[in-house]
Amino acid sequence: MYNLNAETLFPPSIDSQVYTSWLTCKRKFANRYLYHMQTQYESTDLIAGASLAAAMEAARTDFYLHGKSQEEAIFSAMRAAILEYGDHVPQKPEKTIKRVLDAVVAYFDHFPLGMDDLEPVILADGHPAVEAKFRIPLGIAHPETGEELCYTGTMDFVATKYKQVFPVDEKTTGGGFTQAWEQQWHLRNQFIGYLWALRQAQITGHGAIVRGITFPKKVDPDEVANHQFIELMIPIAPQVVDYWERQMRQEVQAMLIAYAELKAGNPTFQLSFGVNCNDYNRKCEFMDACTTSNPEVAIAQKFDQLVWMSDRRENVSLAEVKQQLGLA
Ligand code: SF4
Repeated sequence: MYNLNAETLFPPSIDSQVYTSWLTCKRKFANRYLYHMQTQYESTDLIAGASLAAAMEAARTDFYLHGKSQEEAIFSAMRAAILEYGDHVPQKPEKTIKRVLDAVVAYFDHFPLGMDDLEPVILADGHPAVEAKFRIPLGIAHPETGEELCYTGTMDFVATKYKQVFPVDEKTTGGGFTQAWEQQWHLRNQFIGYLWALRQAQITGHGAIVRGITFPKKVDPDEVANHQFIELMIPIAPQVVDYWERQMRQEVQAMLIAYAELKAGNPTFQLSFGVNCNDYNRKCEFMDACTTSNPEVAIAQKFDQLVWMSDRRENVSLAEVKQQLGLA
């Protein structure tokens, strides 16, 4: 039996991170998305990734929505990257703000806007699909608010290439583009969910495009890193999207049953015992708790109960979120 004796809240919505967490490790799902345990620790990998994503969004918004030139769009991208990086003190020399800005410039040199074979998909509201948010009702009630649960997400960019439609996503790596690195994007829950979301908007997607960017580890701090790039087309068959939808609906029902068992005082939430404890070559944040005889104490010492509010772009205490939802 696993019980942290702390407040809980079923996820207000299901997104690819919540769903992937449920699929990969039930214990992680419970800690992160039912008890909402998070540290205030700022990971340099995540900050640099968010900074790069902000740069891509700013450049594409300026270029495709506002009709600005590539030079103006890159200027906006660099400003957005700096703002997003903020005053973070990097723990990794290869992920400083200078390295992120070098990568942005090199990226648009390698994939020039408007000349890279990608044409943005135009959505029903007439806008190009840049930072396209979706919120799709599942016909299932949230166990606490009674509101309809939705599957949500944001696609950075949806584009056509060779007259086919693909969500486009940038992924970074500290190593090279090995076969294992390339293969990890196949059957990716995130991308299949995007194709399902596009289907709800009457758009048929054919797969995903992954653009890889290397962040070399060994570079003189004063030199420009030699970033490498790759573009992968990951085909996804329509039947896979059908299957994904069926399974996702079943899994959400299973999440609700597991949550009801937790509330009834009989939680399980099994560990994954090493299978997913080191994803992306990074130690799971709950490893120390999972390896002690008293995870309740280990978690209470290291974590706070926080919920990421994407609209406010900040973590908010679970108590405040429950109050806003009328649950406290
Ligand atoms: S350390 Fe492993 S078992 Fe524990 S929560 Fe993380 S993935 Fe699950």
